[in-house]
Amino acid sequence: MKETIKNSCINEFDPNALEEVQAINKILKTIQSIKSSEKVNLKDALHRTISKTVRATINVPSFRNSAMDGYALNINDLKSNKYQLSEIGVSLAGRPFESSLKAGQTVRVMTGALIPKNADAVIMKEMVSKQGLNVCFPKNLKKNQNIRFIGEDIKKGEAVFKRGDELNFSGLSILSSLGINKIDVICKPKISYFSSGDELVNTGRKLLQGQIYDSNRYLLHGLLKDLPVTFSDLGIVKDKKANLIKKLQQAALTSNIIITTGGVSVGDADYIKDALEEVGSVGFWKIAIKPGRPLAFGKINDSYFFGLPGNPVSAAVTFQLFVVPAIFKLLSQKQRRGVIIKAITKNKLKKKLGRTEYKRAVISIINDKIYVETTGLQGSNIMMSMLKANCYIRLSANVSEIKEGDTVEVMPFDTKL
Ligand code: AMP
Ligand code: MG
Repeated sequence: MKETIKNSCINEFDPNALEEVQAINKILKTIQSIKSSEKVNLKDALHRTISKTVRATINVPSFRNSAMDGYALNINDLKSNKYQLSEIGVSLAGRPFESSLKAGQTVRVMTGALIPKNADAVIMKEMVSKQGLNVCFPKNLKKNQNIRFIGEDIKKGEAVFKRGDELNFSGLSILSSLGINKIDVICKPKISYFSSGDELVNTGRKLLQGQIYDSNRYLLHGLLKDLPVTFSDLGIVKDKKANLIKKLQQAALTSNIIITTGGVSVGDADYIKDALEEVGSVGFWKIAIKPGRPLAFGKINDSYFFGLPGNPVSAAVTFQLFVVPAIFKLLSQKQRRGVIIKAITKNKLKKKLGRTEYKRAVISIINDKIYVETTGLQGSNIMMSMLKANCYIRLSANVSEIKEGDTVEVMPFDTKL
């Protein structure tokens, strides 16, 4: 890319800006995963990360049981008894019928109930006819039909989870089915964040001329709340290097990750990079993406630092692209590249060469075809186009114009059903 795109006023090529993938790789290489773990109650473990291998100490199911309400029988027994067997008892879930079947016998079984030892099939209740305790079976039965086998879901000794696996609702179900009620998980990353800017005012106050409400701390609250982390909001810091340094040093005492927004570009009041240089080290501070070119990444003692841009859309995009993978790395989780789908653009799209661009858009499906349409103004201050969006259109650095009807790459945000 750098060979083909030359720096000029009409494109956005910046030789000092890292490409997105290089930046992510640098972040992942720098970050050391958290070593400490803790034991928590299973119900508190939702979305937490497993810290060591969990092996099943029992089989699930641990006994042969019925998949249906019906009758358990021995198939070999049918022909000699003219497909008629006599019901000698009932096996309920939790109230098993424990004797064996003898020739000519069947046992009524409910879903989840123990199956008598020498039975080798269960036939659905709806498929038999009955006269008193005499049960008449159809002819075409298959061995093992409707029987759930020992260990068919989970085998004793099997590793069901390994370090770095995140627990979701299925995980909670599986662990509890193994009788586990406490689980070792990796300690939650501690995140601290603050906003920087002389113009920023807390909500609930009156705005003076030139001031704006600080919305980035709410944005970060919303983004962090969905992640398995603890976080603290350190408020607003003025555009003064000394104040920034003090706050960064204070945050570094207790945080795995420090996030700031604003003050990271090259304006007269942008001191974040200078402050970071003074208290720690700068890994990089410019990335070839839009929105979000200025993004400082570095270290302050044992804390990792992300100086996100001040514009809310840029802060959101850079959080999703760079901070989220950092959090997963801290948690030893595997990196997941969000689903990327191809969609037909309903708009003509324009951009300058030199930066990968993320446009806010919505997906729609018409006659089985996936379409995508931008949600309005694309400035990095325009949060309304983010609010209406359910995906990003991702355009590579070397693309400048896309026609209506062309196919583009789309990254959906929300994967909930
Ligand atoms: P900066 O990165 O400090 O140059 O800020 C870029 C733009 O983002 C400016 O228009 C700022 O006023 C705005 N901005 C910075 N911080 C915030 C914030 N916490 N909430 C809302 N807008 C902000
Ligand atoms: Mg500022």
